Amino acid sequence: MDDVVIVGGGIIGAATAYFLSKEGRKVKVIERDPTYKKASFPLSLGGFRRQFFQKENILLGKFAREFINQIPELLKTEKNPRPTASMVPNGYLLMFGPEHAEEQYRALENHKACEAGTKNIKGSELKNVFPYINSEGIETATYTDNRTEGWIDPFMFHGALKGKAMELGAEFIKGEVKNLGEINAKTIISAAGCWTNELLDDIPVVPQKHTVFRVKCPKHVPEMPLTGDLTTGVYWRPEGKEYLAGSPISTFDSKDLEPAWNDFEELVWPALAKRVPIFEELKLTGGWAGFYDCNKLDNNAVVGKHPKYDNVYMASGFTGRGLMQAPGIGRALTELITTGSYQTIDISVFGVERIFNENARPEPYVL
Ligand SMILES: Cc1cc2nc3c(=O)[nH]c(=O)nc-3n(C[C@H](O)[C@H](O)[C@H](O)COP(=O)(O)OP(=O)(O)OC[C@H]3O[C@@H](n4cnc5c(N)ncnc54)[C@H](O)[C@@H]3O)c2cc1C
Repeated sequence: MDDVVIVGGGIIGAATAYFLSKEGRKVKVIERDPTYKKASFPLSLGGFRRQFFQKENILLGKFAREFINQIPELLKTEKNPRPTASMVPNGYLLMFGPEHAEEQYRALENHKACEAGTKNIKGSELKNVFPYINSEGIETATYTDNRTEGWIDPFMFHGALKGKAMELGAEFIKGEVKNLGEINAKTIISAAGCWTNELLDDIPVVPQKHTVFRVKCPKHVPEMPLTGDLTTGVYWRPEGKEYLAGSPISTFDSKDLEPAWNDFEELVWPALAKRVPIFEELKLTGGWAGFYDCNKLDNNAVVGKHPKYDNVYMASGFTGRGLMQAPGIGRALTELITTGSYQTIDISVFGVERIFNENARPEPYVL
């Protein structure tokens, strides 16, 4: 009998393998596509933030930054003595219209309680800090400017976690698990991302297709934060000398990963040009689509022991946040499995039971 088998070698599987291996557990990770062509993590924007509503998400975001900072010491291996995730700590800027302002003021109370270091300004003050923004229709904005939020390279992050897990003894095996019943292990962890519902049919985590566009603009603002305009749902960030911009429109039941190209002209470009006038001169240079691991109950993580099995744990449903939450979730699952309870960040609110009790805990907006 195996000790621990993790189904899915994406970012959650790799982070969990790392933390469990560090505790001396013998981990096998089964991954059906080691090129990760359709997995969510390589198709993500790499963003990490602490600006959430719920305290657990804020704390997981804070831990992401702490962990990313320590990558050079924690994840160095003989093969990769200088691991990095290429962090760009430009911060996040979130802008809200009058309809969302009250909710964000309440979120700010949670930010304060968690010492998130978030700043808040009125829409009318935006130009003082972000001179390239047109603040029309913005009631309030929140941001960080202390290098605690930003983005990383998801593939490098995954490679560093996987490499360290392997050095600590984890095995990554190519294979597809059709049914959890095929696995003979003391502990089984489902880390199957947006395909979770195929393995656990009582968990409503399914693929939600999101499109990202790559654009070029003659005027480059390298210090621009990852910016979300909650009046339109469009978000963007610099990527080298270009920018990436995400469409707020998503679809379920898409079999392919063809980007929704029409969204660019119809919605994304007009929204970008309105908010950042220099973006009127944009040129579309590319794009892609990827699947969010959407938890249809409440767009929030589902993590913990599955109550219908003796030995099955799961972690999924991050709905656009799984990359940044991976270190915190890997550590939390390891605590739960090795000690029976959470020792650092208590994420019991994300437990599997809430799905069956339909106890929704929505995080207000998804970027
Ligand atoms: C466009 C886009 C932008 C995003 N931006 C961000 C962002 O800025 N910040 C952020 O934190 N998150 C972001 N995300 C979300 C993030 O990518 C996901 O939440 C995260 O990757 C989930 O990690 P995972 O390991 O659960 O899933 P995945 O990364 O999808 O990995 C799951 C793995 O499980 C394997 N698998 C599934 N079923 C089986 C099976 N039966 N047998 C064997 N293997 C199996 C799959 O092949 C896959 O490799 C974004 C996602 C997209 C698509």
